[in-house]
Amino acid sequence: MTLATLSEVLQPALGGGYAVAGLVCLGWEDARAYVAAAEAEGCPVILQAGPGARTHMPVHIWGAIFAELAERASVPVVSHLDHGQSAAECKEAIEAGFSSVMFDGSRLALEDNIRQTAAIAEAAHAAGISCEGEIGFVGYAGGAASAGTDPAEAARFAAETGVDAMAVSVGNVHLQQGAGAELDEARIAAISALTPMPLVIHGGSGVPPEQRRRLARGSTVCKFNIGTELRMAFGAALREAVNRDPDRFDRIAILSETEAPVMETTRRVLRNLMPGPGER
Ligand SMILES: [Zn+2]
Repeated sequence: MTLATLSEVLQPALGGGYAVAGLVCLGWEDARAYVAAAEAEGCPVILQAGPGARTHMPVHIWGAIFAELAERASVPVVSHLDHGQSAAECKEAIEAGFSSVMFDGSRLALEDNIRQTAAIAEAAHAAGISCEGEIGFVGYAGGAASAGTDPAEAARFAAETGVDAMAVSVGNVHLQQGAGAELDEARIAAISALTPMPLVIHGGSGVPPEQRRRLARGSTVCKFNIGTELRMAFGAALREAVNRDPDRFDRIAILSETEAPVMETTRRVLRNLMPGPGER
């Protein structure tokens, strides 16, 4: 059994100069490919069930899938609820066996965000699991605009909520289909100067890989959430598998051909965040 909490994988990353990927799961095939990639690279991995995944399949099924994959894995696997919208939703995930929950209070006023996040962090810790919060607001490509994280507010949020990791808005945007603008490293440094809290970058697909690598090594950013670039790899592999033979109709035969390409793309994402040969 290698189910790990978020804290158990992020604290060594913080001290060791690397980062762990939080990978957006939409089904059994991609989740299984992500764990196979982490095993091939010998690194920890965070499996995430976000709002879209939970609309598609109940959260307790995700909890069971992630627990099953963690049990079989040779590397630490974190079972993480992404963007929990309420205390009830986080409680449901805790009961479903998740080892980490994110409460997204980023649209609340600061005092409300701190109060609600602190209560959920306390419940998570009482259950022996981790909690991630968000301060500032990370926007969406083609949707809501971001509100950058204020370093002083971030320091207060970290101290008063007791979370294990803190998502920040530093130029990152969700759902980008390619590298966007670079993150604001001065803002990241200003936050890190005030709090040692491990930082999380949502919208990691939009961050140039060279910058991900640099921040993994030389900052308190310990977790990059990666969704879009892996969903694009899955979509391309699925299209190829369907188009190659117009007579195919069996979904297991078709979907099984997505796993190797998704695994290969995931290995590149993971390797980029880890120390190179001789650096470990
Ligand atoms: Zn996010």
